[in-house]
Amino acid sequence: MAVPKRKTTPSKRNMRRSHDSLMPASYQECPNCGELKRPHNLCSACGHYNGREIVSVDA
Ligand SMILES: [Zn+2]
Repeated sequence: MAVPKRKTTPSKRNMRRSHDSLMPASYQECPNCGELKRPHNLCSACGHYNGREIVSVDA
């Protein structure tokens, strides 16, 4: 089994973990209905994306 030759220093360990923090999810207003939606994702309220209706939403 491959085994690390040296113990990871606290400095290197913390450098690796510097990218681990969770970021708050970003939202943008839907240009069609004004509802908040994730960027680059279909609007869950009206089913529009890129100016077109992709999925028809009832009620
Ligand atoms: Zn919408």
